[in-house]
Amino acid sequence: MTTEQSDTVLLDRYSSMQTGCAVEYTSQDLLGLVEEIRALKKKHNAVVLSHYYMPAELQITSEHGGIADFVGDSLGLSRAAMDVESDYIIFCGVKFMAETAFILNPDKKVLLPNHDAGCSLASSITGADVVALKAQYPGVPVIAYVNTYAETKAECDICCTSRNALAIAESFESDTLIFLPDKFMGRNLQRVITEKTGKKMILWEGACEVHEQFTPGRIAGMQAMNPNAAVLVHWEVPDDAVLQALANSPGIVGSTSDIIRYVGESPMKEFILGSECDLGATLQGLYPEKSFVTPCIQCPHMKRITLENTRDALRSIGTSLEAKYVIDVPEDIRSRALLPIERMMEFN
Ligand code: SF4
Repeated sequence: MTTEQSDTVLLDRYSSMQTGCAVEYTSQDLLGLVEEIRALKKKHNAVVLSHYYMPAELQITSEHGGIADFVGDSLGLSRAAMDVESDYIIFCGVKFMAETAFILNPDKKVLLPNHDAGCSLASSITGADVVALKAQYPGVPVIAYVNTYAETKAECDICCTSRNALAIAESFESDTLIFLPDKFMGRNLQRVITEKTGKKMILWEGACEVHEQFTPGRIAGMQAMNPNAAVLVHWEVPDDAVLQALANSPGIVGSTSDIIRYVGESPMKEFILGSECDLGATLQGLYPEKSFVTPCIQCPHMKRITLENTRDALRSIGTSLEAKYVIDVPEDIRSRALLPIERMMEFN
């Protein structure tokens, strides 16, 4: 592809992924930043891993003229991080995800373009909280959603993502499980698990500040305005809203990957998204013939990663500024956090 053709592909892709909520770049600014980032990646033997909740400009892959080498959900990104052969991983996601990439790749440098990209779930619990829970419920297996920091993971038996949480919870013989830190995801899982296996779950009181905004009333309003649409709700959405949504429309509650797969397989043409707004950009890019009602609810942490600070992280490589972007986890925590992550990797 010539540079001109590659630029056209990038601009077409970018425009097709707009949800109407994001800050749009001018063509000139977008092309200039992408060109510099692609050159810096080559120079420093770096790859860019990008989460589905990143804005469109960070989700467009190299084959479409963009900067991302891999785009995925938490589990997909963790797996991609294990296959990386480059010296540097530039992580376009939030801090707990970049930590997971480092835990799996201690011989690589993982750079996070903005270390303030946190997560309300990850910051709702500490390693000390898990130790106290284990003392309160001795012998009860602890499942940690991957949206936790390394020091929390280090105290848990196994991690899970929204994609494999159900299979992991079902795999334990114990009749009681501790699931942390998302109470809403826990309640949604509990409903399914208790029905299937009779297991009881002890939950933590954390919540995703994005998904908890999907109240039954908000979803009902979107359904009333779009009566022919199917609903796509994430596990992290409050359980009463999930039940309400699925009682009144066809649809799915599931992980980001489940949602993407469902849309691809569904004969429906319209969908209401009960998840982070830029997943709408992903869906629109993948399925341009379908339409998506997106909620304009964005994760402020994810949006702290931009093309500009991604470029700055790459520019810093080999300079005194590099340390500002490097993700580091002390070895005693990293080695203990690795075990529950590796156990999780045995599940799809
Ligand atoms: S969307 Fe929710 S769970 Fe994901 S990073 Fe943002 S606050 Fe955390």
